[in-house]
Amino acid sequence: MTVVPILLYHSVSSDPEPWIAPYSVTPTAFAGQVEAMAASGRTPMTVSEFVAASSGYGTLPDRPLVVTFDDGFADFPWAAEILAAESISSTLYVTTGALRGRPPTPLHIPPAPMLAWSQLRELDGLGVEIGAHTHTHPQLDILPTSAVTDEVQRSKGLLEEFLGRPVPSFAYPHGFHSARVHAAVARAGCTSACAVMNALSSSSDRPLILARLTVRADTPSAEIALWLAGCGAPIAPYPERWRTGAWRTYRRLRGTRSSRGVFVRPPGKPSRQAPTSNRSQ
Ligand SMILES: [Zn+2]
Repeated sequence: MTVVPILLYHSVSSDPEPWIAPYSVTPTAFAGQVEAMAASGRTPMTVSEFVAASSGYGTLPDRPLVVTFDDGFADFPWAAEILAAESISSTLYVTTGALRGRPPTPLHIPPAPMLAWSQLRELDGLGVEIGAHTHTHPQLDILPTSAVTDEVQRSKGLLEEFLGRPVPSFAYPHGFHSARVHAAVARAGCTSACAVMNALSSSSDRPLILARLTVRADTPSAEIALWLAGCGAPIAPYPERWRTGAWRTYRRLRGTRSSRGVFVRPPGKPSRQAPTSNRSQ
């Protein structure tokens, strides 16, 4: 079995919105982490490349590395350039309703500077695979099946229409998933889907529940070094903890009693540009 760290990033910024700050790393920290990735001697792959190779389509290198980003923050092109300078490919999961350039959509995440649709094509040359991450970023496991199907198909379909090619990979918002959600993702034609789990993935991992390791603002570089060495975290697949079902029921009940926090970007209000996005302009 080949152990594979699949790193999960969100934003790389020195001035993130407060709500995403715990999941945002500074440009200086990110540059150091990319240096460690390059020095690890691992072979970078996109999620789709990794899953295809694990399934016997192509060759799985001895020590793969997969780097992923969720949501589609405006600072991503800068991060992609830093990765590309070290020939490290990545997979970016975008919330299609959050992308700029089309009418605002009510979202289940607070506002932040996000990528524009037009920027997605520019990422091609930087070794970036684009994946779907729903249209409005809801907690899929507590939604009715029809709404899950709509979120998955709409985000995947919009991206495929815009990019003019298949978008076979998906990531669950907040990492929340269930057997019902996996089925909807498979029906939509996805061949891989990323969860969170905070575990190392492997060549035996389940393609529709890939384990990832979240890199947070306070993740020590020593911990990332362990992950790159293929240790320091559990190795997936392993059985889901019994607590997950109870936690889902709690969130579902709480969700029915509240507005579930829908956020709308004010029309016409320009998104604040993150300082770290300047290098890509
Ligand atoms: Zn997300």
